[in-house]
Amino acid sequence: MREIEAAVVRSPGEHAVETVTLEDPEPGEVLVDVRATGVCHTDYHAYTSEDTDFPIVLGHEGAGVVEAVGDGVATVEPGDRVVLWVLPSCGDCERCRSGRPYLCQARRETRGRMMDGTRRLSRGGEPIDHFYAQSSFASMAVVPERQVVPVPDEVPFETGALLGCGVTTGLGAVSNVTEVDGGESVAVFGCGGVGAGAVLAAKAVSAGTIVAVDLDADTLETMAEIGATHTVNAGETDPVDEIEALTGGVDYAFECIGTPQTVQQAIASLAPGGTAAITGTSSTPPAEIDLGRFTKGISVVGNIVGFTQPRVDIPRYARMYLNGDLDLDAVLTRRYDLDELDEAFAALDAGEVIRSVVEFDERAR
Ligand SMILES: [Zn+2]
Ligand SMILES: [Zn+2]
Repeated sequence: MREIEAAVVRSPGEHAVETVTLEDPEPGEVLVDVRATGVCHTDYHAYTSEDTDFPIVLGHEGAGVVEAVGDGVATVEPGDRVVLWVLPSCGDCERCRSGRPYLCQARRETRGRMMDGTRRLSRGGEPIDHFYAQSSFASMAVVPERQVVPVPDEVPFETGALLGCGVTTGLGAVSNVTEVDGGESVAVFGCGGVGAGAVLAAKAVSAGTIVAVDLDADTLETMAEIGATHTVNAGETDPVDEIEALTGGVDYAFECIGTPQTVQQAIASLAPGGTAAITGTSSTPPAEIDLGRFTKGISVVGNIVGFTQPRVDIPRYARMYLNGDLDLDAVLTRRYDLDELDEAFAALDAGEVIRSVVEFDERAR
């Protein structure tokens, strides 16, 4: 048991950095000294939602160093540099055993808890909920081994944090959910962390035309730097018309925001035979689809977290980064301290950042 610093949310939109108690890792769990955590729309949604159970410590895109391991942990040891993956999975249900841990059937019951249904966080005896079995807006976290992914020591913590959820989702949408070939055309709707990941992956597979669509001029400039061949400001022009004029319709459209409008635009921008990967949605309202589009042989595919296999894909992306083939540095546009979380959320909500991270100082050991 130890005292840690954590951003505790006690009601919608209200939080404070508090000293709380973190229990030792149970069997199959890992204690991680958190050094950086990505700030994601999923955190912001939970932060502001009336449906969240409070108190809770958010944060689900962590990176850090293994401090201690619980019984039976075999794949990491103290001192290992690790990325903390967003989605808990049991490893034992039918979907986990069929290689689809992102659809784990046991996860729903773990809301606010670790996989065994209990909590490790508390203050003065009052239990505090976990978020995605991670809660990494905190100086330390206890995380299930299956979500703790070793990466080379050369990967900076802030870069590792980018690989814990959002950017990896966009990378996976291109490399796991679809099969974009060299020379094919791609449009990406919404260029936050997920969309930036899609642009990076499209560039990595040598897509021919990569059209980035966003509302923020600075973001579009960055997309051009990391691989977009064309950028469209959807606040100034109709992206569907623009994509039609540029490409005659794209082979692949990646929807990375989750609004009915962007879902409709992604589908409408496809060439005959094209595929739209709906990647940004969470609790999106219904969208109207022009069913006549289906006579053009289009496909619309859904996914969660880009169908990422964390232990396969995250080390792969880390190697690509170290080889200079994945410009994650350009995607990280702001850094915050833990007590600046309100500023980080405000910038995220305003669409001013592609990806930001909360950083923690290395503590004296
Ligand atoms: Zn996330
Ligand atoms: Zn499972």
